[in-house]
Amino acid sequence: MTMAAVRKDDMPASGDWKLYQMIKDNVTTLDAAGRYGIAVNRRGMCRCPFHKDKNPSMKIDKRFHCFGCQADGDVISFTSRLFGLTRKGAALKLAADFDLRIDSRRLRIVPTPHLPISEEEKIERCAAHYFRELCNYRLLLVNWREVYAPQNPGDIFDPRFVEAMHMLPVVENELDILWSGDLQSKKAVIDEIRQRKEKEVISMDGTVTVPVYYQDGSYARDHKELELFRSSHMENINCKKAIEAAIARDFDGIRLRKTAADEVLDTYGAERVSLVLAATVQTKSWDGRFSQQNKDWAFSVRMPDNRPDMDYDRRDAYAVTSHPAVLDGFINLARREIQERSKVSVRDALSHTPANTPKPSLKKDGIER
Ligand SMILES: [Zn+2]
Repeated sequence: MTMAAVRKDDMPASGDWKLYQMIKDNVTTLDAAGRYGIAVNRRGMCRCPFHKDKNPSMKIDKRFHCFGCQADGDVISFTSRLFGLTRKGAALKLAADFDLRIDSRRLRIVPTPHLPISEEEKIERCAAHYFRELCNYRLLLVNWREVYAPQNPGDIFDPRFVEAMHMLPVVENELDILWSGDLQSKKAVIDEIRQRKEKEVISMDGTVTVPVYYQDGSYARDHKELELFRSSHMENINCKKAIEAAIARDFDGIRLRKTAADEVLDTYGAERVSLVLAATVQTKSWDGRFSQQNKDWAFSVRMPDNRPDMDYDRRDAYAVTSHPAVLDGFINLARREIQERSKVSVRDALSHTPANTPKPSLKKDGIER
């Protein structure tokens, strides 16, 4: 290509050229990809939006380059191709979306006051947001389908396995629509996801919030809550297994790593971890390897009802089987960590008083409603 050809096609008016330069100085292609809903992995690769790309073949940083279709350029050409805009249109869109204002006399970029966004743009942003969230959720479900599959014909289904079987086809369909559907169908999917989020037991980031069920089985049957009763019991067993795994992982033969209880607490929450540990000590209260303090604590923890005429003790199903001396140390760590966390959450609650948070306009997922 000769210089003349370049000049004829691409050479912008000098004001435009400065605009482009300022956009490029302030916004990377990676910023724009994030803003426009393109999921970029940790190595800076994404699925190319300009050809049918199954695996990430586009590298994105300040500029972009696709190793599949050879698409290449800067943030402005990226945006222009993504939205079918002229180069100038793309630059102006970037300026608007990143709150950059062009002061035409001095040609510098200053933050603008809040720009109104169209209904259409709101839906697109929301679709992009949920697309990213659903991608992660889908990976989680694929994992659950394997990890929590029932091992024996008589097993009670783990709630995560049930969720995976039920939700995978739904989520895959929704991803297709959010990626390439029309505005109307995107809107419908967004509404559907929001409704689902309101009544979810398992949140899309994988946090399982099966509530602890305290009544016994016959109460549950009478009140049509057997599902809650079973999944709570199942979750106690999962929590016990997770504690045993954490101890096996974090005990080096002499001492337990200080953070041994953290992950279990993150996953199962203080209430259930306390319940499982307390049940263990209660059912082995004759064992001198548990400290008196931990025994006193264990009998102060509220337990699910256990009918006295039952011929077996439900607590046995989730009593931790790790070595009692090591387990005693684990209980100390867990109790200390639970106490620390409750202090932090009190501090959080105090520091989030309205006086200290003057910007309530964004919901927690960063989407304006
Ligand atoms: Zn490509």
